[in-house]
Amino acid sequence: MEKLEKIYEGKAKILYATDDPDLIIQYFKDEATAFNAQKKGIIRKKGEINNAVSSRLFSYLEDKGVKTHFVEKTGEREMLVKRLDIIPVEVIVRNLAAGSLAKRMGVIEGTALKKTVIEFCYKSDPLGDPFINESIIMAFGFATDGEMKKITAAALEVNGHLSRFFDERGIMLVDFKLEFGRHKGAVLLGDEITPDGCRLWDKETREKLDKDRFRRDLGHVEEAYEEVLRKVMG
Ligand code: UDP
Repeated sequence: MEKLEKIYEGKAKILYATDDPDLIIQYFKDEATAFNAQKKGIIRKKGEINNAVSSRLFSYLEDKGVKTHFVEKTGEREMLVKRLDIIPVEVIVRNLAAGSLAKRMGVIEGTALKKTVIEFCYKSDPLGDPFINESIIMAFGFATDGEMKKITAAALEVNGHLSRFFDERGIMLVDFKLEFGRHKGAVLLGDEITPDGCRLWDKETREKLDKDRFRRDLGHVEEAYEEVLRKVMG
């Protein structure tokens, strides 16, 4: 597989074309941003760690029958993925109230939920990823009713598999963000699943092992990412 020109550079990843028009290379950077890129920094070795974590989780999900863009890990910081027409919707799944939901509802982080929450945001940096719903998604033509049914079912299925996977390794999957896209008529899970886009708490101590350590200046950011890697690979 030949790596060709850069086709997109985002906040944490770069996408490169390959000699196969259906496949691209996803490269993971060490750069970290928070609060719509108002806060910027470097998390040492994050690129390598996130590539390893995401590769492991995507291949685990593929084994469980979830349809994803993942093809294979091709290097320390690179994975080969199917090229997607990305649906501009961030799908957030929550098992406990934390972050913006805890704030919006006026409850402490870690408050139990009677039911898994699914939320949607419009993927737009200039607008700061505003909260939207399925009615708005369909009204603006971002996705069809059929696609949203598939996305919602897949998000809940991913949550079931990953909650169990992390629980067996001493980690609580508090919440996470997914992105989906179209490839040859199918809706596939895309993007990444890493401590950048998941809230992961130690099951015993509830210590945060994710990007909240960077967002909130809690220290030991690299150590937390390393610990997630160790547990995910173990
Ligand atoms: N999230 C993300 N990208 C975003 C917004 C949220 O990866 O642009 C993830 C975030 O890491 C967390 C979950 O989605 O695991 C829920 O985030 P929340 O809505 O609470 O927003 P936050 O408090 O992180 O701004």
